[in-house]
Amino acid sequence: MSTAHEAVPMTAGSLADVVEVLAGHRLAVLTGAGVSTDSGIPDYRGPDSPPRTPMTFQQFTSDEAFRRHYWARNHVGWRHVHRTMPNAGHRALAALEHRGVVTGLITQNVDLLHEAAGSRHVIDLHGRYDRVRCLSCGIVISRAELADRLDTLNPGFTAAVADIEIAPDADAVIEQTSHFVVAACSACGGMLKPDIVYFGENVPRERVERAYALVDAADALLVAGSSLTVQSGLRFVRHAAQTGRPVVVVNRGATRGDKYAAVTLDAGTSETLTDLAETLPTPAQSR
Ligand SMILES: [Zn+2]
Repeated sequence: MSTAHEAVPMTAGSLADVVEVLAGHRLAVLTGAGVSTDSGIPDYRGPDSPPRTPMTFQQFTSDEAFRRHYWARNHVGWRHVHRTMPNAGHRALAALEHRGVVTGLITQNVDLLHEAAGSRHVIDLHGRYDRVRCLSCGIVISRAELADRLDTLNPGFTAAVADIEIAPDADAVIEQTSHFVVAACSACGGMLKPDIVYFGENVPRERVERAYALVDAADALLVAGSSLTVQSGLRFVRHAAQTGRPVVVVNRGATRGDKYAAVTLDAGTSETLTDLAETLPTPAQSR
């Protein structure tokens, strides 16, 4: 499967090596769950994380009991994401964009923390947690609006689950969720789904094209906090390498993109991105 273009030697390097590769370049950045862990959002694929079977699009659409359980958990969980704050890594990337070092971000996270930190050019590759889409008519509503409807349909549910959240008990949660009433689309009665790309689903084509364009308009690609386990992110790494753009991967643990990288740095993103924001020079305005 490898081509001549992929023959970039992988180097486990230091911060100085990263700076040497990136200095003077205008950077596209691809971020993953590792960037948000310091904001309290768990990275289920990190080296120390428990194994987890991700939900698939097929499960969501075909299994009513599963869907009920999913929405019940989501109804509690989305409020947690809603309360999270950007961390030093998000802020460093926003600062780098304002200085003209970073030209834009492609993020696999759905938490909107890059936007909250002040990044302007963000492609939410896998969607965003604060929106819900109808699978039949395509209408998009806010998650907050749906929360109001779910509260009306399930009086007392949030308070009851809050007790369970304090002392997690899987059986108790399932007992609670088996009675959960799911909301249908108020426009057409169709099935609602969070506006998030699940396993078994494709990223919308237009979004993929914008992400490729972002990589093509940059001189180099910096990957931060992603193990690149899914193809939806890995393809941009491969594309950058194949088009002669140096790739740097900053992540805790090995990634599927390491073989495309000029330098890899096994480190946390909050501290590394902060260091880069202080170190990387603003590129010359040559084009
Ligand atoms: Zn609809």
